[in-house]
Amino acid sequence: MEQIHNFINGEFSLPDSNKYIKVIEPATGAPYAKVPDSNNKDVDQAVNSASKAFTSWSKTTVQNRSSILHQIANGIDAHSDKLAEIESRDTGKPISLSKSVDIPRAAENFRFFAEHILTFDFENVLDGHGSINKIVRNPIGVVGCISPWNLPLYLFTWKIAPAIASGNCVIGKPSELAPYTAYELGKICNSAGLPKGVLNIVHGFGKNTGEAITNHPMIKAISFTGGTVTGKEINHIASKNLKKVSLEMGGKNPTIIFADCDFHKMLDTTIKSSFSNQGAICLCGSRILIEEPIYKKFRAAFVKRVRELEIGDPVNNSTELGALISKSHLEKVYGYIKIAKKEGATILTGGNKILFSGRLKGGYFMEPTVIEGLDKNCRTNQEEIFGPIVTLIPFSSEHEAINIANATDYGLAASIWSKDLDRASRIAGEIDFGIVWLNCWMVRDLRTPFGGTKKSGLGREGGDAGLEFFTELKNICMTDV
Ligand code: NAD
Repeated sequence: MEQIHNFINGEFSLPDSNKYIKVIEPATGAPYAKVPDSNNKDVDQAVNSASKAFTSWSKTTVQNRSSILHQIANGIDAHSDKLAEIESRDTGKPISLSKSVDIPRAAENFRFFAEHILTFDFENVLDGHGSINKIVRNPIGVVGCISPWNLPLYLFTWKIAPAIASGNCVIGKPSELAPYTAYELGKICNSAGLPKGVLNIVHGFGKNTGEAITNHPMIKAISFTGGTVTGKEINHIASKNLKKVSLEMGGKNPTIIFADCDFHKMLDTTIKSSFSNQGAICLCGSRILIEEPIYKKFRAAFVKRVRELEIGDPVNNSTELGALISKSHLEKVYGYIKIAKKEGATILTGGNKILFSGRLKGGYFMEPTVIEGLDKNCRTNQEEIFGPIVTLIPFSSEHEAINIANATDYGLAASIWSKDLDRASRIAGEIDFGIVWLNCWMVRDLRTPFGGTKKSGLGREGGDAGLEFFTELKNICMTDV
């Protein structure tokens, strides 16, 4: 059994409680590592180390911080093959995905903020109206970064990079289900010359370690990505201490397809937007809305392509769908098949768990599933499933498409497929989502704001928004002497 350690004050340590959580390989169902279940004392220790480090880190120049962030990015690149293998083993995602998306993006997160802080306005001067005002953005202090299992290193670094780039010190908590690449990140940060205590990584269950972070009086802000129920709990606790929060939460995203779209490009991308990472990317489109004239054509072509997807061992380069993260998540996702059937659904393809033999015998696999025949307001079309299940919904007018798209409590992302850009832009303006892609999906310019409306989010990450969250404004006003 491999042992994962906490990373506190630049050193690797075991938890105060001596309690551990088994880390399971989703593709096999077998445990292969144990990760600390840390308590208040571990979090206290991490906060003390971060507070000490903040005294000097907050005073370093942006050039100095930029150079260290570049070194961390280079360190991730240098270990990219190993990190991709670990990420795939930890999550069950295909190795091709962790190699092409997760790990390169983790490096890019550090590289992007290394550059972005060089041009960001940490200081502005307003001269006029009888006074001179210097407006400065200072780091907040010690901040908490809590991340989920679906894109572990990608999302963990998406928070840590802007936090330390703007001069804060971090208490990070990765998901207990996929903690290994975060453990490796500690080693990379030491080699990159990140001063001790600037980044501390404390592992454990959300209820123990996560709540200890959210409750800690010296932690000034929480950046969280995960489920909406957890986000609400964090918001509740954080508000008692008037902590700043940024919450990136669940989604029930629509893909809106018009008859005049580029059918082949749309079909290729919609396969990806539906089933990448086994459908467990917060940006995946789980409700596919299709204009009636091409409904039958789309359904036939889409179902054919879904049946051709290669499901299997995440270590194989050709695998397109791997395992689901855990047994309980598999049961939750599979439970929606039963719910959908009760709601009157027709299962066009999929709908079953997959039992492999050999190495994958105990793994958590499920067929990619396409469903039709459900009302927009039923549970299957309302609740976040976060697995390889999509529903098809026909529509006959622009107005109806907008109504169906907006008929959800979530508001993270949407895609619109149409060659009529006036119409696509008009709809983008009418639907209530934080990110709208026209004729594409998951194209990311890291300067742009990222986040959702309604139950999907509070606040934005990325670019200036990320640095603004991790800084506090101060105005220094003077008149002539
Ligand atoms: P989760 O909410 O169960 O856990 C997320 C993190 O929060 C984990 O590190 C967990 O240990 C911790 N946590 C759990 N309970 C806590 C508590 N009471 N206090 C503090 N921390 C706690 O989510 P998950 O199952 O890991 O991830 C899946 C969810 O994440 C989905 O809903 C998905 O949509 C969402 N997600 C959103 C985005 C986005 O950008 N909006 C991106 C990825 C995933």
